[in-house]
Amino acid sequence: SKAKLFDQNTEVKTSFKDVAGLEGAKEEVQEIVDFLKFPEKYTTLGGKIPKGALLVGPPGTGKTLLAKAVAGEAKVPFFSLSGSDFVEMFVGVGASRVRDLFKQAKEKSPSIIFIDEIDAIGRARGKNAMSGSNDERENTLNQLLTEMDGFGTNTNVIVLAATNRADILDKALMRAGRFDRQIFVDLPDVRERKEIFEVHLRPLKKAKGLDLDFLSKQTPGFSGADIANVCNEAALIAARNGKKAVDKQDFLDAVDRIIGGLEKKNKIIT
Ligand code: ATP
Repeated sequence: SKAKLFDQNTEVKTSFKDVAGLEGAKEEVQEIVDFLKFPEKYTTLGGKIPKGALLVGPPGTGKTLLAKAVAGEAKVPFFSLSGSDFVEMFVGVGASRVRDLFKQAKEKSPSIIFIDEIDAIGRARGKNAMSGSNDERENTLNQLLTEMDGFGTNTNVIVLAATNRADILDKALMRAGRFDRQIFVDLPDVRERKEIFEVHLRPLKKAKGLDLDFLSKQTPGFSGADIANVCNEAALIAARNGKKAVDKQDFLDAVDRIIGGLEKKNKIIT
């Protein structure tokens, strides 16, 4: 069977309501929504609409979610691929995939291209020059730079890319006319964790009087993705115990379980 080249979603349902916290980042991407919806408003005054922005922050903090919400709010198609898909790819495939992605996005413009884990292709060049797969990575990166430089001012495709390692990226990516804006997406503080709990508790049958302030305080260092996991895990634990609603103890058990999982992950890394 033919491998999927990239993901394409022409009717994105995600909106800013699905993204809890991240007020600063949402404000910054609101401008991108406006560029996509009303490009003439900017171009008639002679301004150049930016081509790309980098979403920078730890794993699971909502970078993909935010990029999708931009497409959903602007009502434009969302094209995405992950940098990690390019690892171990045959020579020539990476560059042609990038070419195809941009071609499709231009045909469907206005549109959003999202590249997750851009560090997998965008690491600074010239290290480990001996390995073949590294050459392929460079070809892919060069194609990406070529595509972004080739955009006319009226193309109206905006490229968002996500990374948790902006420091290792090739500086060429950050040059003017490429990913020349950085938007920070940080781990949530206690108030933001409460908002994230609110979003992910929506679909659950909750016991009366569930204390969200308490849950938010019990989860320091948790990302949005961790909190989404806690909520789902709590519902499964409650169901397993034959309960009619998800209660405080289920959440505490779920928090313990997620912390256990996080500790295991860290052990493998160190
Ligand atoms: P990675 O760097 O690992 O790709 P990411 O920053 O792109 O992570 P997402 O994939 O957007 O993170 O987040 C995973 C899931 O976690 C989301 O689909 C959502 O369910 C939940 N989530 C993360 N952040 C938030 C948030 N700010 N508000 C609501 N839900 C969130």
